[in-house]
Amino acid sequence: MSQQLGGQPILILKEGSSRTRGRDAQSINIAAAKAVAAAVRTTLGPKGMDKMLVDTIGDVVITNDGVTILKEMDIEHPAAKMMVEVAKTQDDEVGDGTTTSVVVAGELLKRAEDLLEQDVHPTVIAHGYRMAADKAIEIVKDLAIDVKPNDADILLKIAGTAMTGKGAEASKDKLCDLIVRAVTMVAEEDGTVDLDFIKVEKKVGGSIEDSGIVEGVLIDKERVHPAMPKKVDNAKILLLNAAVEFKKTEVDAEINITSPDQLQMFLDEEERMIRGIVDKIIASGANVLFCQKGIDDIAQHYLAKAGIFATRRVKKSDMEKLSRATGATLISSIDAISPEELGFAGIVEERKVSGEDMTFVEQCKNPKAVSIIIKGGTEHVVDELDRAIEDALRVVEVALRDKKFVAGGGSPEVELSLRLREYAATVGGRAQLAIEAFASALEIIPRTLAENAGLDPIDILVDLRAAHEKGQKTAGLDVNTGKAGDMLAQGVVEPLRVKTQAISSAAEAAVMILRIDDVIASSKSAG
Ligand code: ADP
Repeated sequence: MSQQLGGQPILILKEGSSRTRGRDAQSINIAAAKAVAAAVRTTLGPKGMDKMLVDTIGDVVITNDGVTILKEMDIEHPAAKMMVEVAKTQDDEVGDGTTTSVVVAGELLKRAEDLLEQDVHPTVIAHGYRMAADKAIEIVKDLAIDVKPNDADILLKIAGTAMTGKGAEASKDKLCDLIVRAVTMVAEEDGTVDLDFIKVEKKVGGSIEDSGIVEGVLIDKERVHPAMPKKVDNAKILLLNAAVEFKKTEVDAEINITSPDQLQMFLDEEERMIRGIVDKIIASGANVLFCQKGIDDIAQHYLAKAGIFATRRVKKSDMEKLSRATGATLISSIDAISPEELGFAGIVEERKVSGEDMTFVEQCKNPKAVSIIIKGGTEHVVDELDRAIEDALRVVEVALRDKKFVAGGGSPEVELSLRLREYAATVGGRAQLAIEAFASALEIIPRTLAENAGLDPIDILVDLRAAHEKGQKTAGLDVNTGKAGDMLAQGVVEPLRVKTQAISSAAEAAVMILRIDDVIASSKSAG
C-alpha cells in the first residue's frame, strides 16, 4: 500500500499486504460471520439435524453441538473466527446455548447490513444494539422463574431440554435421571456444585439403557496380576506417580557380564531394589495401589503376594479424581511413601462392565464423588452421548447455582422482541431503528426452530406473536403440533443464564464486527 507525496509513493506496509476499507471491509466481515451462523443453523432445536465432520486424517465426528462443529471446522477468516469465539464463550460460561448465540449474532449482523444500506452509521447501530442487549437482559431476568430447593422435577426438565435433539432422545428420561441424581449427590447445601466430582466414563458396548451411576470413582483399568485380590474392603489407598520398576540408566550404559555368577548378582540386585520399593509400600499400610506409571513383573509378583490390589498407567485426571475422593496425596517419589499420605475407600473392587474389567472405588472418604457410566452401541454414539451429558450436567449445575430458569422453545425470544419494540418507541431517533432491528433479529430463534421442524416459519411467528400479545409469556413452538404451546407445561425450560449469556455474547460479537472499517492483513509469505 502506498501514499503519494509529491508524486513519490511512500510504502508503509510490507509488499503483498492487503487492505480493505469502509463498506467493503464491513460487507466481507458480515458475510463471513453470516456464513458461520448459516453453518450451524440447521442443527438448532429438537428437530435439528446432525453434522458429520471429517478431519484431515479421516476421523469422523457426528454431532449436533454448535461449539463442537465450529471447533472441528478449520475456520480461517478473522471475522468468522470471532463468531467461533462467541460459541466458545457460551460453552465456557454455561455449557449450552452455543448454536443459539451464534445464530443470533449472525442475524444481528444481517439486520445491521440492512441498516447500513439505509445509511445508518455503524456506531449508531452499535450503540442501539448495546442498549437493546442491556434492556433484553433486564426483561429476560424479569421473566425468570425461581428454581425451588429440592425441586428435582424442574432439574429433570432442564436436563431434558439440553439433551433434546442430541441423539439421546430415546433414552432421555433414563439419562436425565442419572444426571440429576449425580448433580444432587454432589451439590452443597447452598446449591453450589463442583462438577469435578462427577466422572463420566464412556464404554462402547451394550445399550444406552445399561448406563448407570456409581457412588464413587470408576477407573477404566484392571488389576495388574490375577493373584491380587479382586475386592478389598476398608481400602487404604496409595496414589503413586512413579514407576515401580528397576531404574533404567539415563545414559546408554553397557554392562559386561562374563560369568553366570555375575549375571545372578545383577538380577539379584534388580530384585532387591524392587523389593525395597514394594516393602516401602507394604510398610505404609496400603492395600490398594493406583500407579500412574508402570509396575514391572517382579513388583507385580511381590505386590500380589502381599495381598495388595494394584493398577498401573492410570490417567492423570483419574489420579486427581481419586485424590479428591479418597483424600490420598498424589506422591511422585518412592521416598515420600508414608501412612499419612494414604486415602480411604470402603470398597475397591474389579467388576465387569460390558465384558471389560474396570475398577470401582466406592464408599469414598469424600462421599461426594460419583461416576456416570455411559454405554452405547458404537463409539460415535457414545461420544455424542458424552457431549450431551456434559452439556446437561452444566445446565443443571448453572440452574442450581443461579436458581433461575426460563421457558424455552422460542418463547423468551418472542416476548423479548415484543417488549424491545415497545422500548424502541420510547427511545426514538436512529437508535430506535437499531433496537427494532435487534428485536427482529431475536425472532430468528423461533423461526429457525420452525424451519428445522419442517414447519412454516411465518405462520408460526404470527401465531406466537398473537399469543404473546394476549399475555401468554411462555408460549413457544410446540414442534409436535406445529402451533403455539405453553413451554412451561411441556417442560421445555432452560437456565436463565443460557439466555442472558447468549444475548450478551451475540451482541458483543456483532458490535465488534460492525465497528471494524479497515482490515489490514499482512501477506502470508511475509508473515
Ligand atoms: P443450543 O446449542 O443453542 O443449545 P439446541 O440445538 O440445543 O441449541 O437448541 C436449543 C433450542 O431448542 C432452545 O431454544 C430450546 O428452547 C429449544 N428446544 C429444546 N427442546 C425443545 C422442545 N421440545 N420444543 C421446542 N423447543 C425446544
